[in-house]
Amino acid sequence: MKRQILTALLLMAAFSTPAGAQSGQKLKVFISVDMEGITGVANWEDVSTSGREYGYFRKIMTQEVNAAVEGALAAGATDIVVRDSHGSARNLMPELLNENARLIRNWSGGPQGMMDGIDETFDAAMFIGYHARAGTPDALLEHTTSGGVTDFSINGVSLPEAGYNALIAGHYGVPLVFVAGDHALCEQVEALLDEVETVAVKQGIGAAALSLHPEVSHARIREGVERALRNLDRYEPLTMQRPYTLTLRLKNEEAVYTGSFFPGAQRTGNWELTYTSDDFIDVMYAYSVMRR
Ligand SMILES: [Zn+2]
Repeated sequence: MKRQILTALLLMAAFSTPAGAQSGQKLKVFISVDMEGITGVANWEDVSTSGREYGYFRKIMTQEVNAAVEGALAAGATDIVVRDSHGSARNLMPELLNENARLIRNWSGGPQGMMDGIDETFDAAMFIGYHARAGTPDALLEHTTSGGVTDFSINGVSLPEAGYNALIAGHYGVPLVFVAGDHALCEQVEALLDEVETVAVKQGIGAAALSLHPEVSHARIREGVERALRNLDRYEPLTMQRPYTLTLRLKNEEAVYTGSFFPGAQRTGNWELTYTSDDFIDVMYAYSVMRR
């Protein structure tokens, strides 16, 4: 009798566990998802809740995440956490998301922002739908956090959101292994990391987008994610020489003035603030307050 119960429990466990988990190896994946770099997205209206095509593109966004989730499962992922990281952080459609992933919706208010939810228990980080940094030519909907930031640099290196988010992952010893977005974003990420798998889903032509078909994007993302996770030992967490010095350029006089009062911040130019710390999360907290 006891043995029958045990057999039944083992069978249940086998059917309810994602592929790969049966090998007993843990593979925990964090996926941060923005919207500007999703296949086909070409205009701010496409990514704004008031836009006519927003409902359509949030569905494409969810499908693009599913492609990454499927690639991760094929490589044996045992736990997948998806962080909605655009606008309200309430864009991905929960019931359309692959059921093997768990979803983080809404902003927590913490300094990790688009990386909220990551910690040292993860084995790999990935970005879907990302875009290039403020001021990048032939990039789609390029910006850094908000329209008020014209540059975010750490130790003299100008970074896109993908750069500082990779440093947050690096803070926890987690490597960024895969990125999907427009062509300009992929170039910026490749310049920053020795090893990273990228899929450019579209190319900017001025303000226009030359884009792959969503099905083609999905196939490439699925493949790229699986390849990256099967070769995890190739990737290193991103870190930089400590201390981390943030140089922040802002558009607005009032924001620069207000930011200069943040403890430890210095005004180093008409539109520039700097802040230094050994702890990157501390830098991100300063950034979240100084740019207001
Ligand atoms: Zn966004």
